[in-house]
Amino acid sequence: MSLAHTYQCHAPKRWLVRLAYAGLMGLSLQALADDRSVSMVFVGDIMLADKVGQGIRDGHDPLQPFASILNKSDIRIGNLECVVATVGEAVDKPYTFRAHPRVVPLLKRHLDAVSVANNHTGDFGHVAFKQMLQTLQQAKLPYVGGGMDLTQAHTPLMFERQGLRIALLAYNEFFPRSFEADVDKPGHAWSDDEQVAADIRDARDKHRADLVIAFMHWGFENETRSNARQQQLARLMIDAGADAVIGGHPHVTQEMAVYKDKPVFYSLGNFVFDGFSSKDNNTGWVVRLNMNTTGVTSATVHEARIDKRGTPRPESAKPRYCWQQGESLLRICAAPLVE
Ligand SMILES: [Zn+2]
Repeated sequence: MSLAHTYQCHAPKRWLVRLAYAGLMGLSLQALADDRSVSMVFVGDIMLADKVGQGIRDGHDPLQPFASILNKSDIRIGNLECVVATVGEAVDKPYTFRAHPRVVPLLKRHLDAVSVANNHTGDFGHVAFKQMLQTLQQAKLPYVGGGMDLTQAHTPLMFERQGLRIALLAYNEFFPRSFEADVDKPGHAWSDDEQVAADIRDARDKHRADLVIAFMHWGFENETRSNARQQQLARLMIDAGADAVIGGHPHVTQEMAVYKDKPVFYSLGNFVFDGFSSKDNNTGWVVRLNMNTTGVTSATVHEARIDKRGTPRPESAKPRYCWQQGESLLRICAAPLVE
């Protein structure tokens, strides 16, 4: 009996063949999506003035102990928690941080972009902020969450890796609000709810992003749990289309949560920062997101211990916490099977 004959005489079998073919196509499409997996790693607050700055002047590289972990990811992001400039006057506030431009090549070595959306990039006024943006541009180190005006500050930073377009948006909502960018004023992006939702929609519609990640500067200092405002904004961002929310500022780590199967890391804590004595302040999280066209598929967390010089060191070469799509909590990573 010929194959053609079988097809003609046994219609149910033809459907089976079609189903099997469709199944194979589905599998291969899934495999294609998995092949396009891109990883993005986030570190917390990087403060390069004070003792850390003196160490860099003397040739120390505080990001070096994490270099091999960072380099395993396709895109590396950190929050630059100081202004980088030689000009400006300290504004009237409790802590002001200004790092020397010599720190920029070091940042460029370890990171693909920095967020300038925080409560310290305005510490030495607009003249210093503008010089920092120029210095970063000259060094070809992209920044996000700030700019010469409101539009620039709210424009996503786009990454394209393996054909996957990823939009990164960054916002600050910790005072002083005087650092905020305006239509005719440089500064950082403030997380006004309506503006944030519009930015996320624009990232998909105008900038053709496949994924949108929001990097926040929020929360109360030294609180190890997120507050109601952080939770409300995280949900708003995910409802608007964000695939993950990563936060910082409290100087300690905060819990991870899952909303609509999308991860929220409320606070990564400090990364490069000196001047703290408690263990909580000297513990930071380095979060890696693995993503494909379907969203963020998994995440891992390396824990950092920060020494007196402000240098973070990995607690272990392996990640401590893990999460996968479909899970509702961050968990201790399974130990590798021992043969
Ligand atoms: Zn801060």
